Amino acid sequence: MSYPTKFIFVTGGVVSSLGKGLASAAIGALLESRGLTISFQKLDPYINVDPGTMNPFQHGEVFVTDDGAETDLDLGHYERFTHARLGRDNNFTTGKIYYSVITKERRGDYLGGTVQVIPHITDEIKRSIMLVAKDVDVLIVEIGGTIGDIESLPFQEAIRQFKSDVGKENVIYVHLTFVPYIPTAAEVKTKPTQHSVKELRSIGIQPDILLCRTDRFLSKEIKSKIALFCNVDIDQVITAKDVETIYEVPLVFHQERLDDKIIELLNIWTRAPRLEKWEQLVEKIKNPKYSVTIAIVGKYIHLRESYKSLNEALCHGGIANDCKVNLDFVDSETIDESNCRERLKNADGILVPGGFGRRGIEGKTTAIQFAREQKIPFFGICLGMQMAVVEYARNKAGMKGAHSSEFDKATPFPVIYLMKEWFDYKLQKVQKRDVTSDKGGTMRLGAYPCILKEGSLAFAAYKKKEISERHRHRYEFNNAFREKLENAGLTASGVSPDGKLVEIVEIADHPWFLGCQFHPEFKSRPMEPHPLFVSFIRAALDCKRQKPGGSSA
Ligand code: GLN
Repeated sequence: MSYPTKFIFVTGGVVSSLGKGLASAAIGALLESRGLTISFQKLDPYINVDPGTMNPFQHGEVFVTDDGAETDLDLGHYERFTHARLGRDNNFTTGKIYYSVITKERRGDYLGGTVQVIPHITDEIKRSIMLVAKDVDVLIVEIGGTIGDIESLPFQEAIRQFKSDVGKENVIYVHLTFVPYIPTAAEVKTKPTQHSVKELRSIGIQPDILLCRTDRFLSKEIKSKIALFCNVDIDQVITAKDVETIYEVPLVFHQERLDDKIIELLNIWTRAPRLEKWEQLVEKIKNPKYSVTIAIVGKYIHLRESYKSLNEALCHGGIANDCKVNLDFVDSETIDESNCRERLKNADGILVPGGFGRRGIEGKTTAIQFAREQKIPFFGICLGMQMAVVEYARNKAGMKGAHSSEFDKATPFPVIYLMKEWFDYKLQKVQKRDVTSDKGGTMRLGAYPCILKEGSLAFAAYKKKEISERHRHRYEFNNAFREKLENAGLTASGVSPDGKLVEIVEIADHPWFLGCQFHPEFKSRPMEPHPLFVSFIRAALDCKRQKPGGSSA
């Protein structure tokens, strides 16, 4: 394509949680389906340098990219909806921007000048946007927060300036707003949208497209009212109707001719969109033949956002098996031997996800023991894998009191521990870490290679020998206990190329019992479901069929 890169800036108004991330991802999907290459960037107004150290209860999941960046969960949506593969530069926070400006100031780069929000911070923001604008037809930049928040003002000012920098034919502003239906008046209300657009215009941004989040298609009258008050044409007002499944968003946007409008405004010529795959996907999700229930035994169960990619990956595993996956979130703090059977009786599969901190640890081990003994398919991810090793060591390999040294420094059998020295395949150098290492700075982060053992469950799922998966953890399987555990039946079926880091464990005399040190959920896509999730859901489905009186429907 011979165009310069075009830019779509997505802002949100009225309230948060309207689905700006999904809307941006869906726009990306539509443009990709028209043959354009796209990328994304998320600009977050908070001061943390990255979301890595933020509490999942507050912030939701931390999404990890191949290059090991800990990023906002919206990057997960972008990667799931498109072929864009993102990294460190695709997510900037206020903290990261200021950090870099202050570093430059200390270094003397500003030659004694007064360093100010405008132009220094705004210039830094624009430079950050340009970093990922290379080699793509369209860059979609989502601004976190809601218009009117003081925190995001520098980002808003920067994107306002951006239009004159790169030319007005290369930039559009998409504003996601809310059009509530008020039952007592039996009407949808446009006032919040009018106010939000007024706010946006007061900082100099005239939106080109209004995405109106609502529970019904907006009538022509409502659209023209919004158009009149917000200074846009009626075909620039798009209904962003609530949908049954998030994967329907691109289809609903297309029905509203959003992609036609975008390419017209940006003056791009493309082929017609090819959306058959999306249509088939939605059809499959809406009409599954079977269903299974997976119990997720974890700590962050009250905030579903904390397990965003995991929930999606389970759904993808379901799609591949023509199966709806019902999620039963179980608080691991409330599980013990006395109530475990009752609490997990509906589960066709049990999954223990990743996590940090000792809260609810014993409940997780109890659930794992139950899954192992009752031969219920079990999937342990990161901390879930580590606790599966602990459980096996304690109950099958005669290591009473075994634990991860993260939770018990004095355990006689630290089967999971901080590895002092290991070869880092990503950075191609030996890494050292110990208990005094900086919090956050010592994690194994991002994509690492792993070699699978032929004949294993993992090999059967992936159907290849070498894989690459994303990590986010500090602790590792302790090789001092490997032989003992392997002799007791816990196989290391995936290891690093040098054989020193155990990445996958599994047991043989069980329908499906597998733990992995990495987070496979980050690489699952609706159109390319992750092999481990496909295999796990298939096993859960088989388990359900075999239950007395069981049917899989
Ligand atoms: N807390 C464990 C570790 O740091 C597991 C981390 C995780 O599950 N992501 O190794």
